[in-house]
Amino acid sequence: MNREEKAKKKVQVAIIGGGIMGTLAARELSRYDLDILLLEKEAEVGWGTTKANSGIVHAGIHEDPGTLKAKYCFPGNQMFPQLCEELDVSFKQNGILVVALSEQEMETVHMYYQRGLERGVPVRLLSREEVLAQEPNLTPDVVGAVFAPEGGSVMPFELAAAAMENAVANGAELMVDSPVLSAWVEGTSKFLETPTHVIEADLVINAAGLFTDEIAAMFGDDYFSINPRKGEEYLFDLDLEGLVTSTVFPVPSGPTSKGILVIPTSEGNLMIGPTSDNVPERADLGTSYEGFDRIFEQTRRLVPSLDARKIVAQFAGLRAASDRGDFIIEFSPTVPGLFHLAGIESPGLTAAPAIAADLPRMLEEQGYKLTPKSDFNPRREGIVRFRLLSREEQDELIRQNPAYGRIVCRCETVTEAEIVDAIKRGARTLDGIKFRARAGAGRCQGGFCQPVIMGLLSRELGIPVEEVTKRGAGTEQIYFAAKELLGKGVS
Ligand SMILES: Cc1cc2nc3c(=O)[nH]c(=O)nc-3n(C[C@H](O)[C@H](O)[C@H](O)COP(=O)(O)OP(=O)(O)OC[C@H]3O[C@@H](n4cnc5c(N)ncnc54)[C@H](O)[C@@H]3O)c2cc1C
Repeated sequence: MNREEKAKKKVQVAIIGGGIMGTLAARELSRYDLDILLLEKEAEVGWGTTKANSGIVHAGIHEDPGTLKAKYCFPGNQMFPQLCEELDVSFKQNGILVVALSEQEMETVHMYYQRGLERGVPVRLLSREEVLAQEPNLTPDVVGAVFAPEGGSVMPFELAAAAMENAVANGAELMVDSPVLSAWVEGTSKFLETPTHVIEADLVINAAGLFTDEIAAMFGDDYFSINPRKGEEYLFDLDLEGLVTSTVFPVPSGPTSKGILVIPTSEGNLMIGPTSDNVPERADLGTSYEGFDRIFEQTRRLVPSLDARKIVAQFAGLRAASDRGDFIIEFSPTVPGLFHLAGIESPGLTAAPAIAADLPRMLEEQGYKLTPKSDFNPRREGIVRFRLLSREEQDELIRQNPAYGRIVCRCETVTEAEIVDAIKRGARTLDGIKFRARAGAGRCQGGFCQPVIMGLLSRELGIPVEEVTKRGAGTEQIYFAAKELLGKGVS
């Protein structure tokens, strides 16, 4: 389709990218009387770096003074309890523990403690005995630690999907499968071209994660660059729940990483990672034997009993590291009405709510008039978690809707009704179901339930089962299974 044939659309605010940054920005701006459109290139929101990270709500003691990371991390941390309550997203305030294994490392622990005190972050210094009383499965070699009880853990994908749902309920519009292919300026308007539309916007918010520099360059605004930095992560099944209760950090060995950690996720699984390696490719999401060995070697120094046989999944995410070594949160110096939310690497998940909450101020300072809506509703109800209910509550739900009585995912006890609800909220793929409802996220990783989920997607979306994908066009499951068989000589 050439540009002239594409549908035309005009909005006040266009947000490019539905990661945690774009979705929370959309939700924040939906408090005001504005016409908001979010464009996401993938089939669902939250599939960029937002779905592939450690899910830690950092405490605010790691970030160097004077950086935007430091400015927004602790305020972001403080917003999580209310944000997750409003959006009905699982969040656990399990605290973070930075552990020293030598007297020399204790110097860094003391530095974090002092930094915490200066920033108003609740922190405590713990002796060896206190650490081991709190976390008995840590190495006996521990010398001491700093504990920040308000650190936490969240499901980042769930949060992005919930924020977008809430933004849409408050009037914002979402277009998925809509990569911005080109962009230009005419007068005071900015134009964005997708495969199907040409969109005119007064204000463009560039929240395209790893691709924010490419979006900026489309407007001729090429004053920063993004360099992908990979982190591999390994997830254990629920058997290891409780091995540690807080997120355990070592003392970092360099400036670009907080170290390799032991992370209790908000769902109870333990996870270890991430590595921190610069890579040339923005699509390089592979894991490696070398990364696996490095992660185990380093995390076993902290928790010696970690058992590699209990790993159920592995993945890698790419941090969008900017050439400034910090977040880039500013209007373009050359294109009026283009605002960058770029270089949002770690602790971007933690900082995102505070950055989004600061957006209205930054826009008003630039002359944008924002009128608050009287009927903004900050609340969203999550998908019912059948597994977590009492027997009585489960019985009552099954009476109301028999689909709650049909368990589809046996590992995580997810019912047909929860999967159908996820589809009604925008899940269109197997990954979308897995991240929203946890069906396929357990020990067998979908080995048993995938065909049933494919059937449900086909039935609810009204598409042939051959068109059901893992994560959007090009990942059709039946086609790939058949191709693999044909490759092995089966016709
Ligand atoms: C391994 C790892 C561990 C991490 N751990 C933590 C942690 O524990 N705590 C923490 O606070 N932070 C952590 N982070 C950082 C955190 O994940 C990021 O800061 C955050 O997810 C960035 O969100 P974003 O919205 O800026 O980017 P993304 O999530 O990448 O979103 C950008 C979106 O833009 C879309 N997009 C791109 N190009 C286009 C286009 N042309 N048109 C339309 N859409 C487009 C993408 O598809 C994507 O959905 C970690 C990062 C990594 C890699």
